[in-house]
Amino acid sequence: MRTALVTGGGRGIGAAISQRLAKDGYRILLTYCNSSKPAEMVVDEIRDSGIDAVAVNCDVTDAREVALLATHPWVAEGIDALILNHGRYDRIDAKELDVEHLRRTMATNFEGAFLIWDSVKSHLTNNARICVIGSQLGTRGSPHGADYSASKAALAIWASSLAQSLAPEGKRVNIVAPGFVDTDILAGDSKEKRASREEEVPLKRIGTPEDIAGTVSFLVSEDSNYITGTVVNVNGGLYLP
Ligand code: NDP
Repeated sequence: MRTALVTGGGRGIGAAISQRLAKDGYRILLTYCNSSKPAEMVVDEIRDSGIDAVAVNCDVTDAREVALLATHPWVAEGIDALILNHGRYDRIDAKELDVEHLRRTMATNFEGAFLIWDSVKSHLTNNARICVIGSQLGTRGSPHGADYSASKAALAIWASSLAQSLAPEGKRVNIVAPGFVDTDILAGDSKEKRASREEEVPLKRIGTPEDIAGTVSFLVSEDSNYITGTVVNVNGGLYLP
C-alpha cells in the first residue's frame, strides 16, 4: 500500500487532504502540533472507511520531534507522497513586524518544511511526489502578512529548486497556492468581511478545503506525471499572476 505523509493533516486544509488521499488509496501518516483531538477524529474517520491512518505529534520547529517522526515504521517502509501543508498566519501589519515574529513564522512555514523533507528524504520511494502548500500571498505579498508572504515565497522557490534537482530521479515537486479557503484562518472574519471576500473572488465564493485537496490529489497522481516545479493557483480567479 502507498503511504502519504501529511503535515498539519489533522484539521483545516490538511484534514481534507488526508481524507482525500485516503480515498485515493493511500494509508495516511498525518502530523499535528497542538490539536490532537481533531487529528484523532480524522484518523478514526479514515480507519472507519477501511484505510489505515495514524496521527503523530510533531512540532515542525523542533528538530528532535522531526527526527523522531522520521523513525516511524511507516516512514522507513517508504513515503510515496509527502504533503508539506502545515503553516501559521498571524495577522500583523507589515510596519509593526518584529524580528522575533519574523523568525517564528519562517521557522514554521519555511524551515519546518525543509526539516521534514530533510529528515524523510532518504525514505522517499522512486517516483515519489511532493506537494507544498504555499499561498497566493507568496507572490503578491500582503500589508498584514509580510512575514507570512515572505515565508511562502521562500517555500515556493525552494520547492521549485528541489523539483529541478529531483527530476532526473523521477521524483516530482509542485506547489499549490490557495486563495481564500474556509478554515480557522478566516474564522475571525465578520459577516461583512466574509461577504466582501466572496465579492472579490471572480468565482464568487470562498474556497473549500476540498478544493485544495482535489488539486493535491491530482498533483500526486499519475495524471500529472509530466508536471513538476509548478505553482498551481487554486483561488477562484482571485489572483492571476
Ligand atoms: P489552519 O490554521 O486551519 O491549520 C494550520 C495547520 O498547521 C494545523 O494543522 C496546525 O497543527 C499546523 N501547524 C501550525 N504550526 C505548526 C507547527 N509548528 N508544527 C506542526 N504543525 C503546525 O490553516 P489552513 O488549514 O487554512 O492552512 C493549511 C495551509 O494552507 C497552511 O500552510 C496555510 O498557510 C495555507 N493557506 C491557507 C489559506 C486559507 O485561506 N485558509 C490560504 C493560503 C494558504 P495544529 O492545529 O495541530 O497545531
